Amino acid sequence: MTAIAWPTQEGLATSLAEVADHARDFPGIGAMPDRPIRLILAPTRAQYDSLTRGRLPLWSEGAAFPDAGTIVLLTAHQPSGPSVLRHELGHLALRWHVGRYVPLWFEEGYAAVAAQEWDRLDALRLNWQLARGVRMDLDDVDRALRGARGDAETGYALATTAVLLLERARPTTSRKATSSCAGSAMSAHATAGCRGWRRSASSGWRSARCSSR
Ligand SMILES: [Zn+2]
Repeated sequence: MTAIAWPTQEGLATSLAEVADHARDFPGIGAMPDRPIRLILAPTRAQYDSLTRGRLPLWSEGAAFPDAGTIVLLTAHQPSGPSVLRHELGHLALRWHVGRYVPLWFEEGYAAVAAQEWDRLDALRLNWQLARGVRMDLDDVDRALRGARGDAETGYALATTAVLLLERARPTTSRKATSSCAGSAMSAHATAGCRGWRRSASSGWRSARCSSR
């Protein structure tokens, strides 16, 4: 673990590096794969945008680059916190475990579950579109995740529920399921999981529908 920070945030960098060093219990994976991680703290939005090449939306406060083994955190407000760090570590753990790109909804849902971001689910209770019965499939969730802030909040919440359902559907073989659900040949697991997701979402929020890809 290498932490890189501006001089004023050396203490924060040390404590976050320690958190990252001891991170374990990633759902279906366990401990972080033993690979070097570079953690970069950006103390201002301008520095964060520069480090992430301005490709992330304004509400983004953390970014993971699994191929480079790098995490960038916006630390303008103390602290960006272990939850954001753990979310980004979840991205690294998943990609390194699975070894390939996976659908965006699975990546974000997995990272949210790994960081136990249960407050994301509140977005569903307050979402008037879902309350009116607007139907979304997983492609819609992917689009929402890259949309404006409100859409993205809904996208993160729905992605979280989808991954929770997949996890629940394969509790005893979750390590294997994490790979198989995430891969391109995810149809068997994902379809079963998504049927559950549709049922659960229908009863809870009446709206979400899973595509059968
Ligand atoms: Zn993420």
